[in-house]
Amino acid sequence: MLLTAPAEAIPVQEISVHHKNIKLFIKREDLIHPQISGNKYWKLFYNINNYLEKNPENPYIITFGGAFSNHIAAVSAVGKLSGISTLGIIRGEELQDKWRDNPTLLLAKRNGMNLKFVTREEYRHKEKLTEFLHKEFPDALIVPEGGTNKEAIEGVKMMLNDQTKDFDYLCTAVGTGGTVAGIAKFCEENQKVIGFKVVDDASLGNKISELTSGRNFNLIDSCFGGYGKIKDENIRFINEFKEKYGIPLEPVYTGKMMQKVFELIDEGYFPENSRVLCFHTGGLQGIEGANLLLEKQNRNLII
Ligand SMILES: *Cc1c(COP(=O)(O)O)cnc(C)c1O
Repeated sequence: MLLTAPAEAIPVQEISVHHKNIKLFIKREDLIHPQISGNKYWKLFYNINNYLEKNPENPYIITFGGAFSNHIAAVSAVGKLSGISTLGIIRGEELQDKWRDNPTLLLAKRNGMNLKFVTREEYRHKEKLTEFLHKEFPDALIVPEGGTNKEAIEGVKMMLNDQTKDFDYLCTAVGTGGTVAGIAKFCEENQKVIGFKVVDDASLGNKISELTSGRNFNLIDSCFGGYGKIKDENIRFINEFKEKYGIPLEPVYTGKMMQKVFELIDEGYFPENSRVLCFHTGGLQGIEGANLLLEKQNRNLII
C-alpha cells in the first residue's frame, strides 16, 4: 500500500471570531503529506492503492489538469514515490514552450511526469481522449480531472472521524465537487454541509447528486469573479488571515472559502452557538505560481 492513513490525528485548530458565540475551527488536511496535499491525498487514496494491489504489468498513471492544478502536482508526487511513470494531459497548447515558467508544471516534470499539452477544445472532450488512452495503455490507471470518481468519494470519508462529529456545519471549497460529495455522503445525519463554489458551473449540483444521494448539502457562490481569478480583496484576506492565525491559505480554493465563511458569520448566516468546521484542503503549492502572475501585474503578493 503506497498511501496510508496518518498515524497521528490531523490538527483541528480554533479560529477565534468573537461573534454570537460561534465556534470556528479548521482541520489541517494541508499538513497530511509534504507533496500530496489535502483532499487530493484522500481522493487518490483508493484510486492508487486499489490499482497497485492488482499488480499491473505495465503500471502507468494518467490524469488531466490545468496549468496550476493541485491534482497534477499530487499525482506527479505519487509517481515519484511509487516509481511509476505518470502522464499529465494539460489544458492549453500554448504552455508547450512555457511550462518551465510555471512552478506547478515544473514541479510535475521534476517529479518525472510526462506532460502532454492539448487545446482547450480537445481538453473539453476528455471522454474521447480517455477512450483513446484506454486503448493505447490498457494497463494504465486513468484518473479523471481533479481525481473525482467513486473511489475518491470513499477516500474523502477518511477526512471524517471523531474530531469532526460534533460540528453543526462542515465547510469545504468546491471545484469538481468530489470532496463535498464525500463529506455529505459520510457525515453524521444531523450535520449540515456547505460547499463553497469557486467555479462558476451551474451543473455542479447535479454532478454532486450523482455522487451522493443525500440532500444535506448547500452550495454557496464563492467565485469572486471566476475560477482562479484573484482580486485584491482576496490577497488582503489571505495575508491578514496568515498574520492573525498563522495559517496559510491559497488564492484559488481555501482563501475564497474562508473569506466567504467570514462574510457569512458577519451576515448572521450561522445561528448563535453554532460549531463550524472548515476543511483546509491544501493546495499551497499554487501560491508560487499565483505570485508570479501577481508580480507581472505589479500587484501585492501573497506572503
Ligand atoms: C482540488 C481542490 C479542491 C476542490 O475539490 P473538489 O473535490 O474537486 O471539489 C478544494 N481545495 C483545494 C485546495 C483543492 O486543491
